[in-house]
Amino acid sequence: MAAERRVRLAILGSGPAGYTAAIYAARAGLAPLLVQGLQPGGQLAITTEVENFPGFPEPILGPELMERMAAQARRCGAELVADVAVAVALHERPFRILLDSGDRILCDALIIATGAQARWLGLESETRFRGFGVSSCATCDGFFFRGRTVAVVGGGNTAVEEALYLSRLCAKVYLVHRRDALRAEKVLQERLFAEPKIEPVWNHVVEEILGSEEPRAVTGVRLRHVHTGARRELAVEGVFVAIGHDPATALFKNQLDMDAEGYIVTPPGSTQTSVPGVFACGDVQDKRFRQAVTAAGSGCMAALEADRWLAELGAT
Ligand code: NDP
Repeated sequence: MAAERRVRLAILGSGPAGYTAAIYAARAGLAPLLVQGLQPGGQLAITTEVENFPGFPEPILGPELMERMAAQARRCGAELVADVAVAVALHERPFRILLDSGDRILCDALIIATGAQARWLGLESETRFRGFGVSSCATCDGFFFRGRTVAVVGGGNTAVEEALYLSRLCAKVYLVHRRDALRAEKVLQERLFAEPKIEPVWNHVVEEILGSEEPRAVTGVRLRHVHTGARRELAVEGVFVAIGHDPATALFKNQLDMDAEGYIVTPPGSTQTSVPGVFACGDVQDKRFRQAVTAAGSGCMAALEADRWLAELGAT
């Protein structure tokens, strides 16, 4: 039978932001209830090696890092629930959350850490080589392509920043864009055009990612000219897809202030949303840095702000 639980603090999401919020909130005595969502561990649960999370001198696998964060949150006293939030009501307190199982949570404060998903091109070959030369994060995986030739796909700020980042590590970087003008900010474009290692490939889309099976590795991309239909191949060992992200905010539409792309708006230096008592941390409110460590940092901020807010609520 469906159950109703009343807690002081609920947390939605189980990436670095959610788990860090749970660790801090549990240690503050708030006994948080964390709903893990569809993909426990978030984006890191589907990555391979993580080399840039401090404290791990040897690379750690993404799923293992997330298991460790979950274990740490549990040990500190957080309750983790393997369920998915399917509806929320934030117009009055206690806030209400309906879970996929039918269970309901009532909470005085809520931390949203539902993250974002990288957009993919949707090619079968892209899925097959993900983690084997296809990536959506240059900061995470660029290091593995030192001295190699790679391609970045996209024409926005992310694509240009990734191309610039990779140009410092790689021998050559192609920037494949479907138009002949970038969407990225002018200052980034100027930096890009001044970098001799980067070669823009205009008016092309990726038709297929080419590679070998044993070992599974990328060897190139087949491109198609969007106007002429002409095909060409580029020999690359890495493909970085940077065509945008989708924040997981559908549940909160018309309840919280969001920007044009659906990211939850929080003021600089805070995780407070437009509804008092609701806090947002990690990629669901950060389209700029998107790192595990920055997500964890903002998860900490959210727990501290929620704790302070609940203390003030209790005092009134
Ligand atoms: P954007 O949506 O800005 O850009 C996505 C790019 O990918 C566009 O150039 C688009 O092409 C292209 N694209 C989309 N779909 C496809 C497809 N199926 N095939 C080929 N190309 C495709 O995403 P970003 O991740 O770059 O940025 C998201 C937001 O985050 C923006 O507001 C950006 O300003 C911000 N941001 C800010 C940063 C900063 O301040 N330093 C850093 C990174 C991001 P087209 O141009 O033709 O539409």
